[in-house]
Amino acid sequence: MTQNAQNDMVDTFQNHDSQFTKLVCCYSCAEYDIDKILPLLEKIYTESQGPELEGKAVLVKPNILLDEHPDRVATTHPVFVEAVIRFLQSRKAGKIFVGDSPGFHAPLFKPRKSGVYEVCEKTGVEWVCFGKNTMSVSLPSGKVPVASIVNEVDLFFSLPKLKTHELMGYTGAIKNSFGLIPHLHKAKQHAFHRSSQAMASFLLNLNESITPDFIFMDAVWAMEGPGPGNGERYPLHLVLGSANPLALDIIASSIIGYNPMDIETNSEGLKRKKWLTSVDEIVVKGADFEQLVRTDFKLIPRVSTWKMSLNIVLKRVPFLRNSLERKPVFYKKRCAGCKACINICPVQAIHISPKSPKKVVFARKKCISCFCCHEICQYNAIDIS
Ligand code: SF4
Ligand code: SF4
Repeated sequence: MTQNAQNDMVDTFQNHDSQFTKLVCCYSCAEYDIDKILPLLEKIYTESQGPELEGKAVLVKPNILLDEHPDRVATTHPVFVEAVIRFLQSRKAGKIFVGDSPGFHAPLFKPRKSGVYEVCEKTGVEWVCFGKNTMSVSLPSGKVPVASIVNEVDLFFSLPKLKTHELMGYTGAIKNSFGLIPHLHKAKQHAFHRSSQAMASFLLNLNESITPDFIFMDAVWAMEGPGPGNGERYPLHLVLGSANPLALDIIASSIIGYNPMDIETNSEGLKRKKWLTSVDEIVVKGADFEQLVRTDFKLIPRVSTWKMSLNIVLKRVPFLRNSLERKPVFYKKRCAGCKACINICPVQAIHISPKSPKKVVFARKKCISCFCCHEICQYNAIDIS
Protein backbone atom coordinates (compact mmCIF):
# COMPACT_ATOMS: atom_id res chain seq x y z
CA MET A 1 0.00 0.00 0.00
CA THR A 2 1.44 3.44 -0.91
CA GLN A 3 2.04 6.33 1.51
CA ASN A 4 -1.17 8.21 0.52
CA ALA A 5 -3.33 5.20 1.08
CA GLN A 6 -1.48 4.57 4.33
CA ASN A 7 -2.30 8.05 5.61
CA ASP A 8 -5.98 7.17 5.31
CA MET A 9 -5.30 4.08 7.36
CA VAL A 10 -3.34 5.74 10.17
CA ASP A 11 -6.29 5.86 12.58
CA THR A 12 -7.14 2.24 11.88
CA PHE A 13 -3.52 1.23 12.48
CA GLN A 14 -3.26 3.21 15.72
CA ASN A 15 -6.44 1.65 17.02
CA HIS A 16 -5.24 -1.83 16.09
CA ASP A 17 -3.98 -3.69 19.14
CA SER A 18 -0.21 -3.18 18.92
CA GLN A 19 0.60 -6.72 20.09
CA PHE A 20 -0.69 -8.05 16.75
CA THR A 21 1.49 -5.66 14.74
CA LYS A 22 4.59 -7.05 16.50
CA LEU A 23 3.65 -10.71 16.30
CA VAL A 24 5.65 -13.18 14.18
CA CYS A 25 4.15 -16.64 13.68
CA CYS A 26 6.45 -19.58 12.82
CA TYR A 27 5.03 -23.00 12.09
CA SER A 28 6.71 -26.22 11.02
CA CYS A 29 5.99 -27.50 7.52
CA ALA A 30 8.13 -30.25 6.02
CA GLU A 31 6.94 -30.20 2.39
CA TYR A 32 5.33 -28.22 -0.37
CA ASP A 33 1.89 -29.77 0.06
CA ILE A 34 -0.99 -27.34 -0.37
CA ASP A 35 -3.14 -29.27 2.12
CA LYS A 36 -0.45 -28.71 4.76
CA ILE A 37 0.44 -25.09 3.93
CA LEU A 38 -3.10 -23.72 3.54
CA PRO A 39 -4.24 -24.44 7.15
CA LEU A 40 -1.02 -22.84 8.44
CA LEU A 41 -1.67 -19.65 6.47
CA GLU A 42 -5.22 -19.56 7.84
CA LYS A 43 -3.92 -20.03 11.40
CA ILE A 44 -1.17 -17.40 11.03
CA TYR A 45 -3.55 -14.82 9.56
CA THR A 46 -6.20 -15.41 12.22
CA GLU A 47 -3.65 -15.19 15.05
CA SER A 48 -2.13 -12.04 13.55
CA GLN A 49 -5.56 -10.47 13.02
CA GLY A 50 -4.61 -9.60 9.43
CA PRO A 51 -6.64 -6.98 7.52
CA GLU A 52 -10.19 -7.81 6.34
CA LEU A 53 -10.00 -9.37 2.88
CA GLU A 54 -13.57 -9.62 1.62
CA GLY A 55 -13.99 -7.70 -1.64
CA LYS A 56 -10.44 -6.26 -1.46
CA ALA A 57 -8.17 -6.15 -4.51
CA VAL A 58 -4.86 -7.78 -3.53
CA LEU A 59 -1.38 -7.74 -5.07
CA VAL A 60 0.63 -10.87 -4.24
CA LYS A 61 4.38 -10.46 -4.77
CA PRO A 62 6.50 -13.61 -4.63
CA ASN A 63 10.29 -13.45 -5.03
CA ILE A 64 11.10 -14.39 -8.64
CA LEU A 65 14.76 -13.43 -8.72
CA LEU A 66 15.30 -15.58 -11.80
CA ASP A 67 12.76 -17.68 -13.64
CA GLU A 68 14.24 -21.00 -12.54
CA HIS A 69 12.97 -24.42 -11.52
CA PRO A 70 11.63 -24.27 -7.93
CA ASP A 71 14.11 -26.96 -6.81
CA ARG A 72 16.90 -24.38 -7.14
CA VAL A 73 15.18 -22.47 -4.27
CA ALA A 74 15.88 -19.04 -5.81
CA THR A 75 12.14 -18.31 -6.07
CA THR A 76 9.08 -18.53 -3.84
CA HIS A 77 7.75 -22.05 -4.46
CA PRO A 78 4.69 -22.23 -6.77
CA VAL A 79 2.79 -24.43 -4.28
CA PHE A 80 3.35 -21.74 -1.63
CA VAL A 81 2.06 -19.06 -4.04
CA GLU A 82 -0.95 -21.22 -4.86
CA ALA A 83 -1.68 -21.74 -1.15
CA VAL A 84 -1.70 -17.97 -0.58
CA ILE A 85 -4.03 -17.42 -3.56
CA ARG A 86 -6.38 -20.18 -2.35
CA PHE A 87 -6.33 -18.63 1.13
CA LEU A 88 -7.25 -15.19 -0.27
CA GLN A 89 -10.01 -16.74 -2.38
CA SER A 90 -11.37 -18.60 0.66
CA ARG A 91 -11.61 -15.24 2.45
CA LYS A 92 -13.52 -13.83 -0.56
CA ALA A 93 -10.85 -11.34 -1.61
CA GLY A 94 -11.80 -9.37 -4.75
CA LYS A 95 -9.48 -9.28 -7.73
CA ILE A 96 -6.11 -10.94 -7.08
CA PHE A 97 -2.98 -10.01 -9.01
CA VAL A 98 0.40 -11.80 -8.85
CA GLY A 99 3.50 -10.00 -10.09
CA ASP A 100 7.24 -9.45 -9.90
CA SER A 101 10.15 -8.27 -12.00
CA PRO A 102 13.40 -10.25 -12.05
CA GLY A 103 16.69 -8.41 -12.53
CA PHE A 104 16.68 -8.84 -16.30
CA HIS A 105 13.86 -10.11 -18.49
CA ALA A 106 11.91 -9.74 -21.74
CA PRO A 107 9.27 -6.95 -21.84
CA LEU A 108 6.25 -9.26 -21.40
CA PHE A 109 7.93 -11.68 -19.02
CA LYS A 110 5.89 -14.62 -17.66
CA PRO A 111 7.48 -16.86 -14.96
CA ARG A 112 6.92 -20.24 -16.61
CA LYS A 113 10.02 -22.17 -15.41
CA SER A 114 9.38 -21.27 -11.76
CA GLY A 115 5.82 -22.61 -12.07
CA VAL A 116 4.27 -19.34 -10.86
CA TYR A 117 2.61 -18.46 -14.18
CA GLU A 118 0.97 -21.90 -14.34
CA VAL A 119 -0.40 -21.30 -10.81
CA CYS A 120 -1.92 -17.99 -11.97
CA GLU A 121 -3.64 -19.75 -14.88
CA LYS A 122 -4.82 -22.62 -12.68
CA THR A 123 -6.30 -20.37 -10.00
CA GLY A 124 -7.73 -17.79 -12.43
CA VAL A 125 -5.76 -14.79 -11.13
CA GLU A 126 -3.99 -12.21 -13.25
CA TRP A 127 -0.20 -12.21 -13.74
CA VAL A 128 1.22 -8.66 -13.88
CA CYS A 129 4.65 -8.01 -15.37
CA PHE A 130 5.92 -5.08 -13.29
CA GLY A 131 7.78 -3.52 -16.21
CA LYS A 132 4.55 -2.89 -18.16
CA ASN A 133 3.02 0.03 -16.23
CA THR A 134 5.04 2.07 -13.78
CA MET A 135 4.62 5.12 -11.57
CA SER A 136 7.14 7.17 -9.59
CA VAL A 137 7.59 7.24 -5.85
CA SER A 138 9.59 10.03 -4.23
CA LEU A 139 12.24 8.79 -1.84
CA PRO A 140 14.96 10.82 -0.08
CA SER A 141 17.43 9.72 -2.80
CA GLY A 142 15.11 10.84 -5.64
CA LYS A 143 12.22 9.50 -7.72
CA VAL A 144 12.12 5.77 -8.34
CA PRO A 145 9.88 3.88 -10.80
CA VAL A 146 7.73 1.13 -9.27
CA ALA A 147 4.99 -1.12 -10.62
CA SER A 148 1.81 0.99 -10.70
CA ILE A 149 -0.37 -1.99 -9.75
CA VAL A 150 0.73 -1.49 -6.13
CA ASN A 151 -1.19 1.80 -6.14
CA GLU A 152 -4.28 0.26 -7.74
CA VAL A 153 -4.96 -2.46 -5.16
CA ASP A 154 -6.30 -2.29 -1.61
CA LEU A 155 -3.72 -4.64 -0.10
CA PHE A 156 -0.12 -5.67 -0.84
CA PHE A 157 0.90 -9.18 0.24
CA SER A 158 4.63 -9.92 0.16
CA LEU A 159 5.80 -13.55 -0.22
CA PRO A 160 9.57 -13.56 0.32
CA LYS A 161 11.75 -16.65 0.11
CA LEU A 162 14.22 -16.97 3.00
CA LYS A 163 17.72 -16.83 1.44
CA THR A 164 21.23 -15.63 2.07
CA HIS A 165 22.37 -12.62 0.05
CA GLU A 166 25.98 -11.83 -0.87
CA LEU A 167 25.52 -8.06 -0.48
CA MET A 168 22.89 -7.78 2.28
CA GLY A 169 23.64 -11.00 4.18
CA TYR A 170 20.01 -12.09 4.17
CA THR A 171 16.95 -11.49 2.00
CA GLY A 172 13.42 -11.57 3.41
CA ALA A 173 10.51 -9.16 3.80
CA ILE A 174 12.26 -5.78 3.51
CA LYS A 175 14.39 -6.89 0.53
CA ASN A 176 11.47 -8.52 -1.33
CA SER A 177 9.95 -5.07 -2.01
CA PHE A 178 13.00 -4.21 -4.17
CA GLY A 179 11.29 -6.30 -6.90
CA LEU A 180 8.58 -3.60 -7.18
CA ILE A 181 11.20 -1.64 -9.13
CA PRO A 182 11.13 -2.95 -12.70
CA HIS A 183 14.05 -4.92 -14.20
CA LEU A 184 17.17 -2.86 -14.96
CA HIS A 185 16.04 0.11 -12.83
CA LYS A 186 17.06 -2.09 -9.89
CA ALA A 187 20.65 -2.21 -11.15
CA LYS A 188 20.66 1.62 -11.38
CA GLN A 189 19.82 1.78 -7.67
CA HIS A 190 22.93 -0.32 -6.99
CA ALA A 191 24.98 2.32 -8.82
CA PHE A 192 23.45 5.04 -6.60
CA HIS A 193 23.72 3.05 -3.34
CA ARG A 194 27.14 1.45 -3.47
CA SER A 195 27.45 -0.16 -0.06
CA SER A 196 25.28 -2.55 1.91
CA GLN A 197 24.60 0.28 4.39
CA ALA A 198 23.46 2.67 1.64
CA MET A 199 21.35 -0.08 0.05
CA ALA A 200 19.79 -0.91 3.44
CA SER A 201 18.83 2.72 3.88
CA PHE A 202 17.31 2.79 0.39
CA LEU A 203 15.34 -0.44 0.97
CA LEU A 204 13.96 0.91 4.25
CA ASN A 205 12.92 4.17 2.55
CA LEU A 206 11.14 2.12 -0.11
CA ASN A 207 9.38 0.02 2.55
CA GLU A 208 8.35 3.12 4.47
CA SER A 209 6.79 4.47 1.28
CA ILE A 210 5.21 1.16 0.21
CA THR A 211 4.66 -1.07 3.22
CA PRO A 212 3.42 -4.65 2.75
CA ASP A 213 0.09 -5.18 4.52
CA PHE A 214 0.97 -8.77 5.30
CA ILE A 215 3.91 -11.09 4.76
CA PHE A 216 3.90 -14.86 4.35
CA MET A 217 7.47 -16.17 4.14
CA ASP A 218 8.37 -19.39 2.30
CA ALA A 219 11.06 -21.04 4.44
CA VAL A 220 10.04 -24.66 3.80
CA TRP A 221 13.25 -24.98 1.79
CA ALA A 222 15.57 -22.01 2.26
CA MET A 223 18.79 -21.03 0.46
CA GLU A 224 22.14 -21.14 2.27
CA GLY A 225 25.63 -20.34 0.99
CA PRO A 226 26.19 -17.94 -1.93
CA GLY A 227 22.62 -16.61 -2.27
CA PRO A 228 20.36 -15.21 -3.51
CA GLY A 229 20.82 -16.98 -6.86
CA ASN A 230 23.57 -19.57 -6.53
CA GLY A 231 23.29 -21.01 -3.03
CA GLU A 232 22.18 -24.47 -1.95
CA ARG A 233 18.90 -25.91 -0.64
CA TYR A 234 18.46 -26.09 3.13
CA PRO A 235 15.49 -27.91 4.72
CA LEU A 236 14.40 -25.22 7.20
CA HIS A 237 10.83 -26.58 7.12
CA LEU A 238 9.08 -23.41 8.28
CA VAL A 239 6.28 -21.10 7.24
CA LEU A 240 6.40 -17.63 8.81
CA GLY A 241 3.91 -14.79 8.77
CA SER A 242 3.57 -11.29 10.19
CA ALA A 243 2.12 -7.86 9.50
CA ASN A 244 5.47 -6.39 10.55
CA PRO A 245 8.31 -6.71 7.96
CA LEU A 246 11.09 -5.73 10.38
CA ALA A 247 9.97 -8.07 13.17
CA LEU A 248 9.71 -10.93 10.68
CA ASP A 249 13.21 -10.25 9.27
CA ILE A 250 14.76 -10.07 12.74
CA ILE A 251 13.24 -13.42 13.68
CA ALA A 252 13.97 -15.16 10.36
CA SER A 253 17.60 -13.99 10.22
CA SER A 254 18.08 -15.09 13.87
CA ILE A 255 16.67 -18.54 13.08
CA ILE A 256 19.32 -19.16 10.41
CA GLY A 257 22.06 -18.18 12.87
CA TYR A 258 22.83 -14.50 12.26
CA ASN A 259 23.16 -11.93 14.98
CA PRO A 260 20.14 -10.02 13.55
CA MET A 261 21.87 -6.69 14.17
CA ASP A 262 24.62 -7.73 11.69
CA ILE A 263 21.97 -7.37 8.96
CA GLU A 264 21.88 -3.66 8.09
CA THR A 265 18.17 -3.58 7.15
CA ASN A 266 17.44 -4.87 10.68
CA SER A 267 19.80 -2.58 12.65
CA GLU A 268 18.99 0.55 10.61
CA GLY A 269 15.27 -0.38 10.57
CA LEU A 270 15.24 -0.58 14.36
CA LYS A 271 16.87 2.87 14.66
CA ARG A 272 14.02 4.36 12.63
CA LYS A 273 11.43 3.19 15.20
CA LYS A 274 8.72 2.87 12.54
CA TRP A 275 7.89 -0.80 12.98
CA LEU A 276 9.54 -1.50 16.34
CA THR A 277 11.36 0.45 19.04
CA SER A 278 13.06 -2.61 20.56
CA VAL A 279 13.64 -6.25 19.68
CA ASP A 280 12.02 -7.13 23.01
CA GLU A 281 8.64 -6.00 21.65
CA ILE A 282 8.53 -8.91 19.18
CA VAL A 283 6.19 -11.72 20.16
CA VAL A 284 6.92 -15.10 18.55
CA LYS A 285 4.10 -17.62 18.31
CA GLY A 286 4.08 -21.22 17.10
CA ALA A 287 7.18 -23.40 17.27
CA ASP A 288 9.60 -22.96 20.19
CA PHE A 289 12.00 -20.22 19.04
CA GLU A 290 15.02 -21.58 20.95
CA GLN A 291 14.56 -24.94 19.21
CA LEU A 292 14.34 -23.29 15.80
CA VAL A 293 17.76 -21.58 15.76
CA ARG A 294 20.23 -23.33 13.41
CA THR A 295 23.96 -23.50 13.87
CA ASP A 296 24.86 -25.27 10.61
CA PHE A 297 23.27 -22.85 8.11
CA LYS A 298 25.95 -21.48 5.73
CA LEU A 299 25.87 -17.71 6.22
CA ILE A 300 27.50 -14.81 4.35
CA PRO A 301 30.33 -13.24 6.40
CA ARG A 302 29.21 -9.82 7.69
CA VAL A 303 31.43 -6.79 8.22
CA SER A 304 32.72 -6.98 11.78
CA THR A 305 33.54 -3.90 13.85
CA TRP A 306 37.30 -4.06 13.14
CA LYS A 307 36.60 -4.40 9.42
CA MET A 308 34.32 -1.33 9.60
CA SER A 309 37.14 0.67 11.22
CA LEU A 310 39.50 -0.62 8.53
CA ASN A 311 37.00 0.46 5.86
CA ILE A 312 36.99 4.01 7.24
CA VAL A 313 40.78 4.08 6.85
CA LEU A 314 40.67 2.41 3.44
CA LYS A 315 38.19 4.97 2.11
CA ARG A 316 41.15 7.32 1.99
CA VAL A 317 43.23 4.79 0.07
CA PRO A 318 40.98 3.77 -2.86
CA PHE A 319 43.53 1.53 -4.57
CA LEU A 320 44.03 -0.58 -1.45
CA ARG A 321 40.33 -0.70 -0.72
CA ASN A 322 39.57 -1.95 -4.23
CA SER A 323 42.07 -4.77 -3.86
CA LEU A 324 40.71 -5.88 -0.47
CA GLU A 325 36.97 -5.70 -1.20
CA ARG A 326 35.07 -8.88 -2.10
CA LYS A 327 34.67 -9.04 -5.88
CA PRO A 328 33.20 -11.40 -8.47
CA VAL A 329 35.43 -14.08 -9.95
CA PHE A 330 34.56 -15.28 -13.46
CA TYR A 331 34.95 -18.95 -14.41
CA LYS A 332 35.46 -18.68 -18.13
CA LYS A 333 35.03 -22.39 -18.81
CA ARG A 334 31.50 -22.30 -17.38
CA CYS A 335 30.51 -19.06 -19.12
CA ALA A 336 27.90 -19.49 -21.87
CA GLY A 337 28.31 -15.95 -23.20
CA CYS A 338 24.64 -15.13 -22.44
CA LYS A 339 25.54 -11.49 -21.57
CA ALA A 340 23.07 -11.33 -18.65
CA CYS A 341 25.86 -10.09 -16.35
CA ILE A 342 26.89 -7.46 -18.90
CA ASN A 343 23.33 -6.18 -19.22
CA ILE A 344 22.76 -5.95 -15.48
CA CYS A 345 26.10 -4.46 -14.36
CA PRO A 346 25.24 -0.89 -13.26
CA VAL A 347 28.75 0.47 -13.90
CA GLN A 348 29.71 -1.34 -17.14
CA ALA A 349 32.50 -3.30 -15.46
CA ILE A 350 31.96 -6.40 -17.66
CA HIS A 351 32.48 -6.70 -21.42
CA ILE A 352 32.66 -9.45 -24.01
CA SER A 353 36.22 -10.22 -25.03
CA PRO A 354 37.01 -8.90 -28.52
CA LYS A 355 38.98 -12.12 -29.06
CA SER A 356 36.26 -14.57 -28.05
CA PRO A 357 32.49 -13.88 -28.14
CA LYS A 358 31.93 -16.45 -25.38
CA LYS A 359 34.35 -14.96 -22.87
CA VAL A 360 33.74 -12.04 -20.52
CA VAL A 361 36.35 -9.50 -19.45
CA PHE A 362 36.09 -7.98 -15.98
CA ALA A 363 37.32 -4.47 -15.11
CA ARG A 364 37.95 -4.89 -11.37
CA LYS A 365 38.66 -1.20 -10.74
CA LYS A 366 35.23 -0.17 -12.01
CA CYS A 367 33.35 -2.81 -9.97
CA ILE A 368 31.29 -1.56 -6.99
CA SER A 369 30.74 -5.06 -5.49
CA CYS A 370 26.95 -5.00 -5.89
CA PHE A 371 26.99 -8.72 -6.90
CA CYS A 372 24.10 -8.29 -9.37
CA CYS A 373 26.14 -10.29 -11.92
CA HIS A 374 26.52 -13.16 -9.44
CA GLU A 375 22.76 -13.13 -8.74
CA ILE A 376 21.79 -13.28 -12.38
CA CYS A 377 24.26 -15.81 -13.82
CA GLN A 378 22.35 -19.04 -14.42
CA TYR A 379 25.47 -20.99 -15.38
CA ASN A 380 27.22 -20.71 -11.99
CA ALA A 381 30.10 -19.02 -13.80
CA ILE A 382 30.52 -16.20 -11.23
CA ASP A 383 31.73 -16.67 -7.68
CA ILE A 384 32.47 -14.06 -5.00
CA SER A 385 35.81 -13.99 -3.29
S1 SF4 B 1 29.35 -15.05 -16.74
FE1 SF4 B 1 27.30 -15.95 -16.58
S2 SF4 B 1 25.89 -14.24 -16.93
FE2 SF4 B 1 27.91 -13.57 -17.64
S3 SF4 B 1 27.93 -14.05 -19.84
FE3 SF4 B 1 28.85 -15.79 -18.77
S4 SF4 B 1 27.15 -17.21 -18.43
FE4 SF4 B 1 26.23 -15.24 -18.92
S1 SF4 C 1 30.94 -6.53 -12.03
FE1 SF4 C 1 29.23 -7.50 -10.93
S2 SF4 C 1 29.61 -6.95 -8.80
FE2 SF4 C 1 30.86 -5.57 -10.03
S3 SF4 C 1 29.58 -3.77 -10.32
FE3 SF4 C 1 29.23 -5.10 -12.09
S4 SF4 C 1 27.43 -6.31 -11.52
FE4 SF4 C 1 28.22 -5.40 -9.65
